[in-house]
Amino acid sequence: MIPPSGDGSLGDLRRLLQSVDGQGYRAYKRAKGAWRGDDFTLHIDHVQGDPFATPSKLRLCLSPDVHGIPDEAWSTAARRIGSCDFLLRTFKRACEALPRVGGSGKSGLVLVSVDSPIVVERAGCSIDAEGLTLRFRVGLPAAGRRCLGRSAADLLTQHLPRAFETVRWGHVDQELAWSWIRTTEDQDHLQACLADHGLVAFVRDGSILPRKSGVSSDPLAGALPFEGPPELRVTLGTLHHGEVEGMGIPAGVTVVTGGGFHGKTTLLEALQFGVFPHAPGDGREWTVTVADAVKVRSEDGRAVSGVDLRPFIHDLPLARDTVSFSTADASGSTSLAADIMEALEAGTSLLLMDEDTCATNLMVRDARMQELVERETITPLIDRVQELLELGVSTILVTGGGGDYLDVADTVLLMEEYRARLVTESARRVAAQHPTGRRIGEPDHPLRATHRIPRPESFDPRRRDGKIAIKTRGADAIQFGGAELELGAVEQLADYGQTRAIGALLAELQSRCDGTKRVGELVHDAVRRAREEGLIAIEPSPELAMPRPQELAKALNRLRSLRILP
Ligand code: ADP
Ligand code: MG
Repeated sequence: MIPPSGDGSLGDLRRLLQSVDGQGYRAYKRAKGAWRGDDFTLHIDHVQGDPFATPSKLRLCLSPDVHGIPDEAWSTAARRIGSCDFLLRTFKRACEALPRVGGSGKSGLVLVSVDSPIVVERAGCSIDAEGLTLRFRVGLPAAGRRCLGRSAADLLTQHLPRAFETVRWGHVDQELAWSWIRTTEDQDHLQACLADHGLVAFVRDGSILPRKSGVSSDPLAGALPFEGPPELRVTLGTLHHGEVEGMGIPAGVTVVTGGGFHGKTTLLEALQFGVFPHAPGDGREWTVTVADAVKVRSEDGRAVSGVDLRPFIHDLPLARDTVSFSTADASGSTSLAADIMEALEAGTSLLLMDEDTCATNLMVRDARMQELVERETITPLIDRVQELLELGVSTILVTGGGGDYLDVADTVLLMEEYRARLVTESARRVAAQHPTGRRIGEPDHPLRATHRIPRPESFDPRRRDGKIAIKTRGADAIQFGGAELELGAVEQLADYGQTRAIGALLAELQSRCDGTKRVGELVHDAVRRAREEGLIAIEPSPELAMPRPQELAKALNRLRSLRILP
């Protein structure tokens, strides 16, 4: 029989852990509770069932007089997020430097979750009037399935407290901490100012946009710093960094062109992650995009549920209807059309597209094909971008080959050796000299956001046995109830923690689905609640990071079982 959990001093915890040395692993359950150190409280909130299971959940609390973080460091939402991000990274580094305690399974692992350079709210760290809280996991050490109680005692009562010291304000590198806080606040500020300047994005001159590799988020060493065209140079005021200069991309239709390998995709990728603040030193911390920008793309094989595709796809053979189109296996063009319609439904003011991942037949159809193919079922995007603009949605499109777009572009950027030049005037001249002869489509179906109401029973997080089962597999996949949810094409998911949070939010959202609420409303409400109540209220896991409603919608839309009410 395991006695009930104990609360007490850190010394009590030490004795308790030493006393379970050599016992069966479940004896660690007695360590659950709150343990007071000299100037902190260590909570053991959950004890793993065995050494191979997900490590135990711990929480460190420091009172305001102990942590010493000045109020100005967390007096606004952006500052609080910047401070917490900095402290969590500081804590992570300190934990990584602790002596490694070995053993079987996950013994001795100390897991602090910050998995990307973006600065967002994370469940791992919070500050409020009560104090500073850090949440993390520890693999309680074992030999086989027996407690290594002495090692556990050393880890929790000697090593870890040294890491706790590092997050006290008196011990942190304050200059660096302030740079984190001020950069975060300024990115937030710039993002909020973009619209006032008629812009959808800003890239500061000198930014380092390319990454080391497709799988790395580290800046590429030796990369050529970004330099925008003089004609698009804007000077924006910041709160802490004076005036910053760089390229302002105006609202409207922007085409980014240039030869292969000249940096087009690199620019677009920087823009797609510009919706989130980045940590100082990332190289992209001054690349800022409107907060609701959505990267849309083709995704062969994805499921589509009840989306009105008529603005792009209509009059299919065999009278197949596209007013509420569903498929378990979408093509390149249908998946792109669905992604656009779903982005409008979730709410966006900027679509980002890259020819590398967009089905050509949905992007454009040239004069020759217009002539040859009479029964066309697709209205390409080129005939819709102006309407999008009337709906308040700008487009930034990367294309090296789609010359027809020169007719509809408000701004044309040419990437040349990683430098951006403005070539709108030359593009107009070329377009006038070489008319394409393309007929402008006169689409039957007006383009507007449509709103679907999901059937709650169609995306149940419970398995057949009635148990809720949500598991994240890497950053790109979630097991949701009995279903596998693939998120590899949801490119703006920037952090494993966001994927985790999306799993939890989908379940929460499902419980609020009542047959009257629309997708847009559901996803925005879910994220707003997470912001108001804290991620930890959604699911008590230290890994969670705040996602955007746009990514939550993308996840919902990719659930294969999703059904829509008529
Ligand atoms: P495009 O889309 O025009 O074909 P990419 O954006 O894919 O080109 O870039 C091609 C290569 O150039 C990539 O390997 C990228 O890392 C590299 N690159 C991009 N920008 C820079 C830069 N500013 N300095 C150095 N290398 C860069
Ligand atoms: Mg490319």
